[in-house]
Amino acid sequence: MKIVVLKFGGTSVGTINRIKKVAEIISSYVKQKYKVIVVSSAMSGATNDLVKKSKEISSNFSNAEYDVLVSSGEQVACSLIAGRLIHKGYKARSWLAWQIPIYTDNNHKFSRINQINKNKILRYLKSGGIPIITGFQGINKEERITTIGRGGSDASAIMLATFFKAKRCIIYTDVEGVYTTDPNKLKSAKKIKIISYEEMLEMASLGAKVMQPVSIQDARLNRINIEVKSSFNKKSGTLITKRKNIIKNKIITGISSTQNDAKVTLVGVKDKPGIAAAIFKPLSKNSINVDMVVQNISANGKETDLTFTIKSDDLVKTKKIINENKSINFTKLIFDKNVSKISIIGVGMVTTPGVTFRMFQALANQKINIQVISTSEIKISVLVNKIYVKKAILVLHKEFKLEK
Ligand code: ADP
Ligand code: ASP
Ligand code: MG
Repeated sequence: MKIVVLKFGGTSVGTINRIKKVAEIISSYVKQKYKVIVVSSAMSGATNDLVKKSKEISSNFSNAEYDVLVSSGEQVACSLIAGRLIHKGYKARSWLAWQIPIYTDNNHKFSRINQINKNKILRYLKSGGIPIITGFQGINKEERITTIGRGGSDASAIMLATFFKAKRCIIYTDVEGVYTTDPNKLKSAKKIKIISYEEMLEMASLGAKVMQPVSIQDARLNRINIEVKSSFNKKSGTLITKRKNIIKNKIITGISSTQNDAKVTLVGVKDKPGIAAAIFKPLSKNSINVDMVVQNISANGKETDLTFTIKSDDLVKTKKIINENKSINFTKLIFDKNVSKISIIGVGMVTTPGVTFRMFQALANQKINIQVISTSEIKISVLVNKIYVKKAILVLHKEFKLEK
């Protein structure tokens, strides 16, 4: 069976007119003799509204009920798509994750899909039907509804493509593909024709919303080539694939930035072994992810300052944990939400010397102060004041000739 998985994001199904367009896209694949599996997200804004409601009803809303609530947006979108296809004369129906079922692990809010029962969908495809499957949701062993993290319908699509051995997996979104940086933030951003899983994973993890990071991990593991394209026009998009398939690598492939980081500084902590561990242990126990870390060498050999970053959402919790931590002393605790992490990503930097210098010099020329630095083999991240984000992206985009 020549199967294609088509995933539609929130904006692509954001209005009745958009959904009518989506039905046309689906029908174009049926005409090309594909067996089409459709995955849809909720209409844009729907999931955010539900999350807001959960917060209004309780500051400590149950995770299991959160999943039941926030997964409901997908049901609406899928039913509307199926309804339009039926209107056009096709055999189509909506499938909620539990009806298939799509199984996940037992976690709520951030589950991972681990099994998809193929029988019913295969039978339906063979009978000429077009299944319209809810993204983002699954059920666990206890048959409770789960969700797989914000932006998760990308991962739903990849896992469906994996289990059904699809020939193609196409992510339809509101931009024409993956760009060198967010095209809604920088006009000169350029569409990338082909990008490796590794680079896409870094770009997504470091703030490029266009693909959910987990979905890229799943795609890489299962060797699923992903095509990202626009549901608004027919232009060619981006192929996300293995590194071997890419002939020419630029030094830097893309630039990402984050909106939701916060910086924490402990002033005057003892400069002795075990202190960093004493600070971070209770944070990790409470599932608070510490990202960038910098510790200064103490001038007097006694005290030093320790700075690290966390997600802004974890700020209140972090404050409480540090203040209640009896095993550490410090003179002052400083929090700063006005920070953003800017990252340059590219496999080319492995073999090219001087990339770090060029990044730092370009920022220095604009008088942009770097607060914290972290690096990996294929990325360099710097923390800067939020007011410089646009400027920083612009100058780095120029420095590494990404608009060319
Ligand atoms: P969907 O609802 O289709 O899943 P998302 O809103 O999750 O779409 O992701 C698409 C958005 O990602 C774009 O509108 C764009 O603003 C943003 N984005 C951020 N970084 C990039 C990038 N490097 N390339 C393309 N889009 C990006
Ligand atoms: N509707 C869900 C969300 O907004 C899933 C998705 O968009 O992929 O997070
Ligand atoms: Mg998305």
